[in-house]
Amino acid sequence: MMMQHRFVEIIPDAVEDDVLYISLKYCTAIHKCACGCGNEVVTPISPTDWKLIFDGKTVSLSPSIGNWSFNCQSHYWIKRNEIVYAREWDKEEIQFGRTNDKKRKAKYYNKENESVSSVTKRPKKKKRWKKFLKSIFSF
Ligand SMILES: [Zn+2]
Repeated sequence: MMMQHRFVEIIPDAVEDDVLYISLKYCTAIHKCACGCGNEVVTPISPTDWKLIFDGKTVSLSPSIGNWSFNCQSHYWIKRNEIVYAREWDKEEIQFGRTNDKKRKAKYYNKENESVSSVTKRPKKKKRWKKFLKSIFSF
């Protein structure tokens, strides 16, 4: 099954079937579940969520889209505008995927925090300490 992609600024209220709407401004893509159940699938585009590959003609989303929160439980890839069905995951695999996802995010954001704190946050801490001491000794 093929999809169209449409670059938009704002995601429209009425999402058409078989269209992947992509808002670069909001770093989000949305489409109706490929199984036809009518649920709208939102895929945030970020270093820890989905990546969008645009080759000038078609788009791909990575990783796969697993609609575990819908009844249909559909699982597929969007590769070069084509819906490629993946097999269904069992509960353990879904759980594993979710835990992995959390770990990946934690790792990513910790790294970000570390680099920020080593460069800019330390002097602030000292100041805070001074403030804290002042507040004690001024009594
Ligand atoms: Zn569905």
